[in-house]
Amino acid sequence: MALKTTEEYLNSLRQLKRKIYVMGQLVDDPVDHPLIRPSINSIAMTYELALEPEHEDLMTCTSSITGEKINRFGHLHQSTDDLVKKVKMQRLLGQKTGSCFQRCVGMDAMNALDSTCYEMDQKLGTDYHQRFRRFLEYVQTNDLVVDGAMTDPKGDRSLAPSAQVDPDLYLHIVEKREDGIVVRGAKAHQTGMINSHEIIVMPTVSMTEQDKAYAVTFAVPTDAEGIVYIYGRQASDTRKLEGGSIDTGNVKFGGQEVLTVFDNVFVPWERVFMCEEWEFAGMLVERFAGYHRQSYGGCKVGVGDVLIGAAAVAADYSGAGKPSHVKDKLIEMMHLNETLYACGIACSSEGRKTASGTFLIDLLLANVCKQNVTRFPYEIARLAQDIAGGIIGTMPSEHDLRHPEIGPYVEKYLQGAAGVPTENRMRIIRLVENLTMGAAAVGYLTESMHGAGSPQAQRIMISRQGNLQHKKKLAKNLAGIEE
Ligand code: SF4
Ligand code: FE
Repeated sequence: MALKTTEEYLNSLRQLKRKIYVMGQLVDDPVDHPLIRPSINSIAMTYELALEPEHEDLMTCTSSITGEKINRFGHLHQSTDDLVKKVKMQRLLGQKTGSCFQRCVGMDAMNALDSTCYEMDQKLGTDYHQRFRRFLEYVQTNDLVVDGAMTDPKGDRSLAPSAQVDPDLYLHIVEKREDGIVVRGAKAHQTGMINSHEIIVMPTVSMTEQDKAYAVTFAVPTDAEGIVYIYGRQASDTRKLEGGSIDTGNVKFGGQEVLTVFDNVFVPWERVFMCEEWEFAGMLVERFAGYHRQSYGGCKVGVGDVLIGAAAVAADYSGAGKPSHVKDKLIEMMHLNETLYACGIACSSEGRKTASGTFLIDLLLANVCKQNVTRFPYEIARLAQDIAGGIIGTMPSEHDLRHPEIGPYVEKYLQGAAGVPTENRMRIIRLVENLTMGAAAVGYLTESMHGAGSPQAQRIMISRQGNLQHKKKLAKNLAGIEE
């Protein structure tokens, strides 16, 4: 059963017994909860497309561990071709969902962990790599969604993990037992956590020896005892509770971020992949972040395709599609979007094999990719709002459109180009709103800024990887300078 159907995925989520809070309410069945379901639909797309022959080449591959056909989201990249296909798959899913489809975090965590565990074992004589491979085989065989949990709440940003007033502000080991470890802390902004079967927890920063209790990596099922989920809000999220299908903008899909609390959670040794090896925390963070910065060169581009299309349709529907300045804005949006894609493809093509056999992206180019992602979607969104017009901030609701008395006014005064139904115009304007200032703006903008590390984190990596000394030498050579 290496490829699950959508129905099997949904049923597998229903079987998990977890403590999930949404707006202060304990939720019994997250799968059919109207606030949660759109995000589940997005992940379900990763199952659905994998079974479509048309998308087989991007969505599936042969496992390097079992030799079976598996979903690419559970795969260890075996070549630069695999890395390129990953980005193409993410663009496709961004186009299909117009949302964050969440499953990439676990894929990126597993790839980062594979090479890091291998190199850690070689240096320290530990046996983490085989433990991790056993876990991965279980994930691949059962086609599971894995969440990668990196970001700690971090408390006072000027203090190291071990120097925080409250020691739990970074997740840490509280007890080492014969059968495993007990951990406490939290992971913030967790993408797709409630829609996952398994969680891989990783440290969020490089560590020193004083922080060794915080250098911990492990996997737990999402229904492990002691985990509490607190659902993150998104702008206009309660529109999903209003009924109707216009005002949410995106009729079916959405993203999800969750504050996840680990209140003394037990992890058996076979699922622990780093325990106090603080020297390797930095490598894991750097590689995971690198993979996820590559990911954005695919997923955000796919969502960008949707937004550019929405802006163009909005212009057509209001009779403003023809002027050259509108066309020029659309060209600029496409140029910015394809530049992000070029970065995603470039860092993949320039990838390299690590000691474990798993391929890693070019870290400099992946960081350049993400640095651009912190800017270009904002410019694309600005241009989309420019083209769509002020109506994205003032439009009456679907309830007004359907109202027996005022509905005809809405119908009459919101009409645009001759022959275009007012309802269609309202739908496309709501989609632009959704992507640039509504619920999906969390995925398209906030995540573009802060996901996989805020802009400054990429600048630090660019300064480390950019080899300025070499550039200086080139200049001195051509200027005839000998020192
Ligand atoms: Fe995947 Fe993009 Fe969502 Fe990250 S932000 S999980 S890369 S869709
Ligand atoms: Fe993300």
